[in-house]
Amino acid sequence: MERERCAAIVLAAGSGKRMNSSVKKQYIEIYDHPVLYYSLRAFETFGIDEIVLVTGKDEIEYCRKEIVERYGFANVSAIVAGGKERYHSVYEGLKAVKSCQYVFIHDGARPCIDQETLNNCLKDVREYGACVAAVPAKDTIKIADKEGFTQITPERSKVWAVQTPQVFEYDLIKKAYEIMFASSHELKITDDAMVVENFTDKKVKLTNGNYQNIKVTTPDDLPLAQIYLMQNE
Ligand code: C5P
Repeated sequence: MERERCAAIVLAAGSGKRMNSSVKKQYIEIYDHPVLYYSLRAFETFGIDEIVLVTGKDEIEYCRKEIVERYGFANVSAIVAGGKERYHSVYEGLKAVKSCQYVFIHDGARPCIDQETLNNCLKDVREYGACVAAVPAKDTIKIADKEGFTQITPERSKVWAVQTPQVFEYDLIKKAYEIMFASSHELKITDDAMVVENFTDKKVKLTNGNYQNIKVTTPDDLPLAQIYLMQNE
């Protein structure tokens, strides 16, 4: 089957405070390569048509020289500055995409993203127009009240941990973001599916992801990412 034009937005504009490190989490090195390298490489291997890299305003030059040029990521079409919150960064990325039918929005801090998950997402976005990589929750999840006591326990079989990529028809997600920014939204938007859920009537499919697709967030995630990356080399 001939493939539709696909773009990826790789997000690396976060401050990475929870890593407690002078080097931001997306640039910490694992096996001599920055975390961000592995995320970009996964999309290159996947044969993506275009990558928009979203980074901090002061890190654009570093990313261009030390990551994109150094490792020869020829399909990076733009490096743009992100915004205050993740959703601001995503919107900057969406505006910089040249043209595509489907867009894969991915946290640069998830270096262990695998080809099978990318293929599962492509299959589901073709069928449903909107999907997110996710894994069934292994732990029981509790919703807490303001005082830190348990309030609600959702039925575990219905609880999923949502990852990235989050993949959409480009026109759908761009429009959803535009509607959100035009409205006086008060939502704490932590992923792109929320924008589609709240500002369109499209249903978002949960796509089979991989437990190894962790977000490198705190120092104890690093040795895990190292093991997973080594296993898959
Ligand atoms: O902060 P969080 O862990 O949710 O970040 C997920 C991804 O989004 C990371 O790759 C981070 O660099 C990116 N991000 C961003 N712009 C922000 C905040 C986070 O690109 N303002």
